[in-house]
Amino acid sequence: MKVFVYDLDKCNGCHNCQIACKDEHVDNDWSPIAKPQPDTGHFWCKVDEEVCGKTPLVRVNYLSHHCNHCDNAPCVKFAPEAIYKRDDGLVIIDPEAAKGNKDILKACPYGEIYWNEELQTPQKCTGCAHLLDDGWSVPRCVDACCTGALRFGEEEDFADELANAEVLRPECGTAPRVYYLNKPKRFVAATVVDIDADEVVIGAKATLFAVDDEAEVAAVQTDELGDFFIENVEPGTYRLVVEKEGYLTQSLDVDLTVKDQSFPEFQFFAEPVIA
Ligand code: SF4
Ligand code: SF4
Ligand code: SF4
Repeated sequence: MKVFVYDLDKCNGCHNCQIACKDEHVDNDWSPIAKPQPDTGHFWCKVDEEVCGKTPLVRVNYLSHHCNHCDNAPCVKFAPEAIYKRDDGLVIIDPEAAKGNKDILKACPYGEIYWNEELQTPQKCTGCAHLLDDGWSVPRCVDACCTGALRFGEEEDFADELANAEVLRPECGTAPRVYYLNKPKRFVAATVVDIDADEVVIGAKATLFAVDDEAEVAAVQTDELGDFFIENVEPGTYRLVVEKEGYLTQSLDVDLTVKDQSFPEFQFFAEPVIA
């Protein structure tokens, strides 16, 4: 059985996968696997982009996604006369049997099925089954990914990596066959600025503590630009402490529960000189 494995660490957001999917399917009739994809409005493969943090302390996360070819697919249960799972694990919408049934779009909890208005049929990623049946070892999107972020193959060949992989929305219970590695966790970042001197502070120590047990999570130093990034932090609430000899120690609560946090001007004050 086949799987897709997508390593977010290796994805640079080039969109080659998305473009290759268009090139393969727009205006090309691969019946009985799929009818032509329309020129616009369909994203059988889609690269989402999320900008996290505040400018200029940002990170951009990319997520390439398409049909998950679920083992427990709600779409197959909804329309078994029109949607089927192949022996290799790929889920296919029969374009003729599904014709006229727009309700099929509602059956996918991931929103991965599109409606072809001209042909009056639902469509989605086919896993490029027509190519695999023609001797290709991988689909077009995988073939186009030059960083190796997107891979495809036999499940057993990826066994070690799949042990640490995640799937999208596991709570849906759909048993996806698309696995994600290295999904980014949260970060906190800041530029530490000496307000009185109007310059950045180099070599200040920033420490993140867990709020519940006060355990130290990570400690870093500001670089030559006065910046620090503490990355790969589990979602949660923390206390950030920034300190340097000659300055008043600053601390603040940081909520990383639902999003990353960055502070482009973290104010730092020199200790008052006592005469
Ligand atoms: S991702 Fe959606 S369309 Fe694809 S198999 Fe799962 S339920 Fe069906
Ligand atoms: S497997 Fe084929 S149809 Fe599916 S997203 Fe990749 S290129 Fe598109
Ligand atoms: S082709 Fe590869 S690197 Fe480029 S966006 Fe797609 S998955 Fe990411």
